[in-house]
Amino acid sequence: MRPLQIEIRLNHLRENYQTLKQIHGGKLLAVVKADAYGHGAVRCAQALAGMADGFAVACLEEAVQLRENGIDAPIVLLEGVFDAAEYAEVDRLRLWPVVGCQWQLEALLNHDWQQSVYVWLKMDSGMHRAGFFPHHYAAAYTALSQSRHVAGIVKMTHFAAADDEERGMTEMQMEAFDLAVADLPAGETSLCNSAALLAYPQARRDWGRAGLALYGADPFLENDPRIRPVMRMVSRVFCDRVLQPHEPVGYGATFYTKRSTRVGVVACGYADGYPRCAPSGTPVAVDGEKSRIIGRVSMDMLTVELNGSHGHVGSEVELWGDAVSVNEVAAAAGTVAYELLCHAKRGRFVYSE
Ligand SMILES: *Cc1c(COP(=O)(O)O)cnc(C)c1O
Repeated sequence: MRPLQIEIRLNHLRENYQTLKQIHGGKLLAVVKADAYGHGAVRCAQALAGMADGFAVACLEEAVQLRENGIDAPIVLLEGVFDAAEYAEVDRLRLWPVVGCQWQLEALLNHDWQQSVYVWLKMDSGMHRAGFFPHHYAAAYTALSQSRHVAGIVKMTHFAAADDEERGMTEMQMEAFDLAVADLPAGETSLCNSAALLAYPQARRDWGRAGLALYGADPFLENDPRIRPVMRMVSRVFCDRVLQPHEPVGYGATFYTKRSTRVGVVACGYADGYPRCAPSGTPVAVDGEKSRIIGRVSMDMLTVELNGSHGHVGSEVELWGDAVSVNEVAAAAGTVAYELLCHAKRGRFVYSE
């Protein structure tokens, strides 16, 4: 059997949830959109059931999958609905839709609700992607609050750069938000993603929304010891050979040996979600010791340096996880941990409690 495994440590997921909830205070949504950032939404939500105050997904289809698998906690649709007809399912499944633009608001007000609905009303406090402008927010809030079907409104916004503590953008967004809601009736609010939750105590309000840190990746790329990686992508060396100095390795001959080098071939490639653009030098761990990939990543294989007596056919290679953080690989490949985690696939998913 091909040795590539994607290990998902559900005990780390639960510990991270509790840690983040404690840091944030109040309630915390476990963000399980995009198949729980590649970890498997149903398994992760089931592991957190009874513990998580609620879940958040990107669309109705993702919410349906959770409901069909026995998740009855609140589920927030982070982007709301994509057409008015979806409100019928939102109603039936008791989902909590975000309302972030005018047509979503009007369609919600026009829907013939069978049950009352909790709405997350989104403000664009500066990111300029979705949400009502601060000067339009009160009108949207008032329209919702006058509907007899609306049981509650959570005021929310999303930060554009909470993982960048230098720029002051998060403070500006918080100010814009607080000013725009100052004259509205009190009620629950939600500002924090993972980065804000960890770094901005003033942003911790009634509901946090944790994704990346829940999966154990530090938004500040610093291996925060309070959270533990949930995913470990591991495979094995299945061939090795010794190359003379000045020999090329792999497609495009992008890497040449400088000295006599033992090369291990690992069963993992870009079809498994390992980034093809990861250059020679990107870290891996061979039997727990740091090494590096050399040559180009192919579809099903990649090549690593094995030196001294270390590493042989059968050696375990951690692509990311504990010895090599997913952030390190993402940095080498010019992307972010989010993308790598979401792309992990084709290997055998092995869940441990
Ligand atoms: C995805 C998402 C989150 C989670 O963000 P992380 O950085 O992964 O914690 C929070 N809020 C909204 C609106 C999102 O879309």
